[in-house]
Amino acid sequence: RNPPPTLHQPEIWSDQFNDFICKCLIKDFELRPNVQDLLQHAFIKQIAGREKTLQKQLMELIDLNQHERIHTKKGSNMKSHSQALDDVDDLAILEVLDENTITEQLQKRYTKDHIYTYVGDILIAVNPFHKMDLYTQQYSKMYIGAKRTANPPHIFAVADIAYQAMVSYNADQCIVISGESGAGKTESAHLLVQQLTVLGKANNRTLQEKILLVNSLVEAFGNACTVINDNSSRFGKYLEMKFTCGGTVVGAQISEYLLEKSRVVHQAVGERNFHIFYYIYAGLAERKKLAHYKLSDSKTPKYLQNEHIKLVPDIVGSAFYKEQFEAVEQCFKVIGFTLEELGSVYSILAAILNAGDIEFTSVASEHQTDKSNIINMAVLESAASLLCIRPDELQEALTSHCVVTRGETIVRSNTVEKATEVRDAMGKALYGRLFSWIVNRINSLLRPDNPYYLGGGSFSDLNIGILDIFGFENFKRNSFEQLCINIANEQIQFYFNQHIFAWEQDEYLNEDVDARVIEYEDNRPLLDLFLQKPMGMLALLDEESRFPQATDQTLVEKFEDNLKSKNFWRPKRVDLGFGIHHYAGKVIYNAAGFLAKNRDTLPADIVLLLRSSENDLIRKLVTHPLTKTGTTVPDNYTLYTHHPRETTNMRTQTVASYFRYSLMDLLSKMVAGQPHFVRCIKPNNDRQAHKFDREKVLIQLRYTGILETAKIRRQGYSHRILFTNFIKRYFILAFRANEEPAVNPETCAAILEKARLENWVLGKTKVFLKYYHVEHLNLMIRRN
Ligand code: ATP
Ligand code: MG
Repeated sequence: RNPPPTLHQPEIWSDQFNDFICKCLIKDFELRPNVQDLLQHAFIKQIAGREKTLQKQLMELIDLNQHERIHTKKGSNMKSHSQALDDVDDLAILEVLDENTITEQLQKRYTKDHIYTYVGDILIAVNPFHKMDLYTQQYSKMYIGAKRTANPPHIFAVADIAYQAMVSYNADQCIVISGESGAGKTESAHLLVQQLTVLGKANNRTLQEKILLVNSLVEAFGNACTVINDNSSRFGKYLEMKFTCGGTVVGAQISEYLLEKSRVVHQAVGERNFHIFYYIYAGLAERKKLAHYKLSDSKTPKYLQNEHIKLVPDIVGSAFYKEQFEAVEQCFKVIGFTLEELGSVYSILAAILNAGDIEFTSVASEHQTDKSNIINMAVLESAASLLCIRPDELQEALTSHCVVTRGETIVRSNTVEKATEVRDAMGKALYGRLFSWIVNRINSLLRPDNPYYLGGGSFSDLNIGILDIFGFENFKRNSFEQLCINIANEQIQFYFNQHIFAWEQDEYLNEDVDARVIEYEDNRPLLDLFLQKPMGMLALLDEESRFPQATDQTLVEKFEDNLKSKNFWRPKRVDLGFGIHHYAGKVIYNAAGFLAKNRDTLPADIVLLLRSSENDLIRKLVTHPLTKTGTTVPDNYTLYTHHPRETTNMRTQTVASYFRYSLMDLLSKMVAGQPHFVRCIKPNNDRQAHKFDREKVLIQLRYTGILETAKIRRQGYSHRILFTNFIKRYFILAFRANEEPAVNPETCAAILEKARLENWVLGKTKVFLKYYHVEHLNLMIRRN
């Protein structure tokens, strides 16, 4: 390609220039920063007035592409503050900052399909609930290396900022996406990964493809249709993209949190099981393989039955499910799973469905009144054969259990209720461990130093993590799962607050920079309520779970006796109920089933039996505990934990303690990187396009801290650069290349004055700058 014309070649302007500009603006966004410069400095000054047609044409194109207005004001490189206030890209520049104005702005923008808005360096994404033409290759190119103010706010800009920061400062980055269910977190995470693979110029297409497929694969197993969202993530996901220090993407790693395993055996009214069950049912039917996996083509497995799906034909007839099955299988293959592994995965899923259909009946026995027998032995045999274990042993493990008393092993019969519990526990455990195994396997296949799959054993130095974790939940009935999810959100909110408010203020104070004290709601008392040891809610739950005689009733009483907090209360008329005033609102929980869910025990007899399986994968699932190793918390951050190192032990571990551990593990990863925040907002509860429910949005703005953020960002300095780094980067603007100016505030001031910037502040060790200062300096460097 011919090099683009430059400012120094006025002779080739006119037709050729015209042609070039049009091409750049319409097709070739790669050259955009160039075009911007040309427009700002050449076009306005030189061409304007001379080439009316060209000027008009360009203006139209600029409008068309929603480019920012060109500033004619001499020396001004900042975002135009005279911009009409009826459409502001960055709410931090608003004069009036009350909640009504912010909601109004978001609404105005939303009606024009401007779904993205900045508040300082935070991106707000309002779910459009319809397909947007915003994610094409053209857009992708347009946001590469572009100034933030050069383009309208966009999720690709966040990817770019994180990427450029990673490369420039040689530092890990972390993008936290939050919002309630259905707000658009997962979609945003996909878009970030998509753009980051482009930015990271994966040196082989296969790697790029694999990274993009990871999400789809994990989501087939971890997402489900709920009353709120047809593709709701039922697990938390932290995806780390690995890069070399030069910025080339070389791999990816996923961590998963709190998969909602109970969904395997039971779904609330209007909800479904995990997607993969429907996909394999339809896919295997299409391939005439249902019989091979012992699945019926007429009777719907119990675990998949609900008011939507009464009949197998509803599933097997679905073209969508069949397509998804093919897509998932393709993902498995491309990522590198073997055919044998795939076969085992299908067998395990089919075994879970078959086992779910095993029915028990009560039989009177001489010694015990309620023994259980299996009604449908054929189904049990199918499940056993898929699990490659002996049916008689499965029968025994379901209907009886061993108790060791004084060194003697006694076999006791299970009641129907107990046998059903064991059956369901087996299904949940198998699914949960299969999910973890898939994630671990993906990790080993996408590990940067895997020389076989990535063609060359490249090592990663840097990473960008993307956190997509379930939003705050408040249903009619809230159980243990909601409690865990809401605690995770509470912790993430704490991190956000820490970052935005406390860090901001601390840094000002440390640097002797005047900081107006900004009030914000600290949710630390809530974290104390949940996580403190030994008297926090989770610790009390664990303690109660250790007593065999404890009941959910004794648990709530224990809470009531020990939790002394204004954020906890017992509602009078709700049996087993307790209320928590979360940062995001009041939630009433029902403690029924809390102890069982927390113990989450898989009887030893089942574990031993599955260990005898002839299927390698099944044996692996129950032999090697899929635990994570201990983690250290960096010293420079007050992470909310009293126990930075916690190890996990499969035998004694409760769900609460593992959850606590994973939360710490997650936070230690997050705090190691420089954070970026994407706040997803759901504009209405009906999943409707172009409908903006102000009250609903306002509540979300309030509890995500966006209102306070706007305030602090507006008053504050978004960039603080150490004198030494600042001088290293920008000294050339005020000194000769061979000069070595002293590292002191005077040198910094000289550079800033030379750049004709105002309103910056020098602290004790750092230069405090507004984001537009940094943009201006960078632009000058590029021109230099
Ligand atoms: P959950 O917490 O339940 O997992 P979520 O926040 O991850 O919810 P998503 O699954 O990302 O929500 O989004 C819900 C739906 O909203 C999507 O299936 C899609 O239909 C729509 N949606 C979200 N973001 C966009 C977007 N940028 N463009 C078009 N549609 C979108
Ligand atoms: Mg999601």
